[in-house]
Amino acid sequence: EGLVQHDHALTVGMILRRMRTVTGNAQVATLRSPGQIDRASYREVAERADLLADALSKLGVGEGDRVGTFMWNNQEHLEAYYAIPAMGAVLHTLNLRLFPEQLVYIVNHAQDKVILVNDSVIPLLAPHTDKFETVEKYIVVGDGDASALPADKVIRYDELLASASPGFAYPEIDDRSASGLCYTSGTTGDPKGVLYSHRSTFLHAIASGMTDLLGVCGNDVVLPVVPMFHAQAWGLAYAAPLVGADLVMPDKFLQGEPLAKLIEGEKVTVAGAVPTLWMDLLRYADEHKPDLSSLRRVPCGGAAVPKSLMQAFEERYGVLIVQAWGMTETSPLGAVARPPRGLSEEEAWGYRTTAGRIAPGVEARIVDEVGEEVAWDGESTGEVEVRGPWIASAYYETDAPEKFHDGWLRTGDVAAITSNGFIRITDRAKDVIKSGGEWISSVDLENELMAHPAVREAAVIAKPDERFTERPLACIVFDEGKEVPAGELATFLLDRVAKWWIPDEYAVIDEVPKTSVGKFDKKVLRARLEDGELT
Ligand code: ADP
Repeated sequence: EGLVQHDHALTVGMILRRMRTVTGNAQVATLRSPGQIDRASYREVAERADLLADALSKLGVGEGDRVGTFMWNNQEHLEAYYAIPAMGAVLHTLNLRLFPEQLVYIVNHAQDKVILVNDSVIPLLAPHTDKFETVEKYIVVGDGDASALPADKVIRYDELLASASPGFAYPEIDDRSASGLCYTSGTTGDPKGVLYSHRSTFLHAIASGMTDLLGVCGNDVVLPVVPMFHAQAWGLAYAAPLVGADLVMPDKFLQGEPLAKLIEGEKVTVAGAVPTLWMDLLRYADEHKPDLSSLRRVPCGGAAVPKSLMQAFEERYGVLIVQAWGMTETSPLGAVARPPRGLSEEEAWGYRTTAGRIAPGVEARIVDEVGEEVAWDGESTGEVEVRGPWIASAYYETDAPEKFHDGWLRTGDVAAITSNGFIRITDRAKDVIKSGGEWISSVDLENELMAHPAVREAAVIAKPDERFTERPLACIVFDEGKEVPAGELATFLLDRVAKWWIPDEYAVIDEVPKTSVGKFDKKVLRARLEDGELT
């Protein structure tokens, strides 16, 4: 008796209703081609989402059906983000950069019924459609050539919306039902599906607004550079419309120049992307000096963020990069590195270079090899385990008991936790270098190496060693024309890391291979080492 409405459903539909009213005047801007930007208010987006929902239901998409999207970040993708979950179907964001076998595997595993596809990426999808077992329709967004797709299954997005009726009657949805499906990007073997619920999505969007997390608020102009297929653009495509921030969508234009111009032109205040992308932007900015001063905060994560990168943006452009940690399995917000108050600058950096403080709404612990909890002393390390209302409890239709532990998700990250809840990641379990019975953190080594002014990228992997089991091998990409001898790098590391950590071997490479979401792909480097290609 007398309790609040705690059963009120927390759904994507609730955000959609807000987009018609409270946040209806905020807008999404989409870069269509260099210099050409389309704009729509959230109210218009909501109305078009209604049309899409109506059209999809007429195509036979019902509750629980998976609808794939093979799209860049743009207005139509945003419409799909709302229409599909709100009608009770499941938004399955397909990664545009997967290997063909993985793409085929994922589409069939998810049993996608319909796929929405941007015309610009039809060449990546079309060669595989004969292997898709369940797809009945391809909805083509854009008026480009679609002749490579099976003709009898193609519908144009615009025509589809033109033939649909307004005012779709959305069903009432249990917030414990599925809203979205995203497969891990596969640095860890077979792609596995993470199934988000309405409730997890809504709670995660609310959390994104917290100042200590992404801090997205109604005054912001948010640029999700992170693809909408990478852990749902880190939740930004739900957080921004919820609070009424504008969205700026870069579509396929993810290079330094168009991004810098978007930031300048649209006065972007918050932008999110993985570190490698900011390294590219920094190089462009150093050459062309764009005005990036509108950016007040740049959440950056998905991989360790080098301190040198954060410092460069702060000193040269007044842009604050905030490190965040998460994974597809954690929706993805797990931790954000905002230092406590009252610290010296150096102490603050000590916190800012961690993976972050455990996010409100998430619980974390570290455990040793036998599953015993390790103390939070900032020194002792173990595998990070997390749990909470937006953390995966299993994978979609895939048995992987080794990834879960008594209701906790095993992250595969090795870390220490400070007494005030900051996670200091030393490595991913599979990247750790075991030398002479002790661990060397490849992440720390990479960060220190990338602080050298001549080093553009550094990835450190383990090389088998008879005497020490493993020794670090540093794969270095130098800035053009700035190559220095290995000895100089070793000297540079001398007062930065323990002496026995310093790599004896360095391999100069043209580029560090990247995963589908732009992270260093050490799997490829290890394979090259095995094939004798890295010397
Ligand atoms: P995948 O596992 O396929 O790479 P994810 O994008 O889900 O796909 O990656 C999650 C992983 O990324 C984490 O487990 C962690 O190893 C790494 N990661 C994310 N953020 C950080 C960070 N700030 N520092 C170090 N590693 C990070």
